Amino acid sequence: MLVFDRITIVGLGLIGGSLGMALRRKRLAREVVGVSRRAVTARRAKTRGAVDLGMMDSKRAVREADLVILATPVEAIVPTALRLAKTMRPGSILTDVGSSKGAIVRALERRLPHHVAFVGGHPLAGSEQQGIEAADASLFDGSVCILTKTARTDPRALARVRQLWAPLVERVVLMSPARHDRLLAQMSHLPHVIAFCLASAVEREGLAVAPRSFLDMTRIAKSSPQLWDDIFLSNRDGVLASMARFEHRWRALRKLITQGRGSSLRRALARAGAVRHALGDP
Ligand code: NAP
Repeated sequence: MLVFDRITIVGLGLIGGSLGMALRRKRLAREVVGVSRRAVTARRAKTRGAVDLGMMDSKRAVREADLVILATPVEAIVPTALRLAKTMRPGSILTDVGSSKGAIVRALERRLPHHVAFVGGHPLAGSEQQGIEAADASLFDGSVCILTKTARTDPRALARVRQLWAPLVERVVLMSPARHDRLLAQMSHLPHVIAFCLASAVEREGLAVAPRSFLDMTRIAKSSPQLWDDIFLSNRDGVLASMARFEHRWRALRKLITQGRGSSLRRALARAGAVRHALGDP
C-alpha cells in the first residue's frame, strides 16, 4: 500500500538503513531515496536493498520528496532539518527517529519554515550495532514507535506519519515530547548509563571469567559512544532524574545488604522480580 510517493532518508546507518529496507519490503513508497555523507555508504545501501537511489547531495535528494526522515545522530538532527527544510517543497512532511525528543521538537517547531510540517518520531527498536552493514529489514517487527504530539503538531501530517509506521511496528503510541523523554530516560537511557558504568567498574582480571549475566547486562555498553553521549546530553534532565530514582533504590538495597536484613532484602528482590516477570519474555 503506497503511503508516500518519494521518501528521502537522511543518514543510512542502522536505523535509516533498516527503515529503508522495511519501507521497500512493504512497498510503502513508490521510491525510497537515501542520503549519506559518504559515497561508499550510499552505494552499499543500494546493494543491500535499503534504497532505490543513494546519493550524497542532500538538497537534491529532498527537493522532490513528500516525506523526509532524519536518521542521523541526535545532535545533527536540528541543524540538518534547518538546512534542508528551505529546499523541501510546500506541503511536505519532515520526521525523525532521534532517541530524545524534547529539544528536537522544541527547536524545530519554533524554527522550521511554515511550508514544512514536522512530526517527531522514535522507533523503540535497535541494537548496540551501527552502520549500514547492521541494517535489518525486520528490525522494527513487533516493536513500538512513539510519535510526538504537541499543540503545534499538524494533525494531517501526524496521521500520515502514523500511517507509515503502523504497518512496520506492533503499535504506534502518541505522547508529548516531555513524557517521551521522562519515560525513555528510565526505560532506555538509564539502562545504558548502568551498562557503561558496570563495564568499567570491574577488575580486568575478572573479564577472563565473565559469566553470561555480566555479558547480558553489558551488551549495550558496546553501543556507539558518539550516539550515546549525544542522547545523554540532549535529555540531560530526564537522564539525571532517572539516575536519582535509581540511586534511591541503590542506596535502599545497599542498606539492607549492609545491615544483613535477609527477609527485608528477599522482599525487595521479590518486588523487583515481580516487575520483570510481569513483562514476560520476548
Ligand atoms: P548509526 O548506525 O551510527 O547511523 C547514523 C548515520 O548517520 C551514519 O550512518 C552516518 O552516515 C550519518 N551521520 C553521522 N553523523 C552525521 C552528521 N553529523 N550529519 C549527517 N549525517 C551523519 O546510528 P543509528 O543507530 O542508526 O542512529 C540514528 C538515529 O536513530 C539516532 O538519532 C538515534 O538516536 C536513533 N535511534 C537509534 C537506535 C539504536 O538502537 N541504535 C534506536 C532508535 C533510534 P554517513 O557517515 O555515511 O553520512
